[in-house]
Amino acid sequence: MSRLDSMIRRLTAQKVCIHYALDLISDLGGPILELGLGNGRTYDHLREHSKGREIFVFERKPAAHPSCTPAPQFLFEGDFRDTLTGATGTLKLPAAFAHCDIGSGVSENDRALARAIAYPLNDLLISGAVVLSDQELHVGQWRSIDLPNGVSEGRYFLYRKFEERS
Ligand code: SAM
Repeated sequence: MSRLDSMIRRLTAQKVCIHYALDLISDLGGPILELGLGNGRTYDHLREHSKGREIFVFERKPAAHPSCTPAPQFLFEGDFRDTLTGATGTLKLPAAFAHCDIGSGVSENDRALARAIAYPLNDLLISGAVVLSDQELHVGQWRSIDLPNGVSEGRYFLYRKFEERS
């Protein structure tokens, strides 16, 4: 497969998964969290399709085009490891959906980052929230859910947060 085809396949899968996740949260209130602004592509797409939900973006070094950069009150600038824990007091409501597009391509670093952010991210989510991630995340209160048709296993990871039963 050419690199062009591979990129088209990856971005198509990302878009399909985002729409699937948005459908899953249609009955839930709460904002969206976008981890990894990058060029602002997925932020812009979420903005267009999230029916006016607030979107809070986390990014170490915002460098997207200004039209795809959130207003300052919706942007947590800095390392996820610091900003996620600091965000708890800022969100008026826990989030219904987190989209994590955080991979660097260096798998050892990506795994360490995924381990570090999983629980701080969980603390920002409402029960029933959906997490779509390009990295595998492990949180006791989350259950994996099947990816939408046509998306290969392991390309993305989809989770739903459930309340722990005592
Ligand atoms: N979703 C973006 C888009 O569609 O344009 C692409 C995101 S890009 C794959 C990953 C982004 O995560 C980069 O902008 C990078 O700076 C950010 N990032 C990676 N590790 C981070 C960390 N530890 N803290 C904050 N931002 C981080």
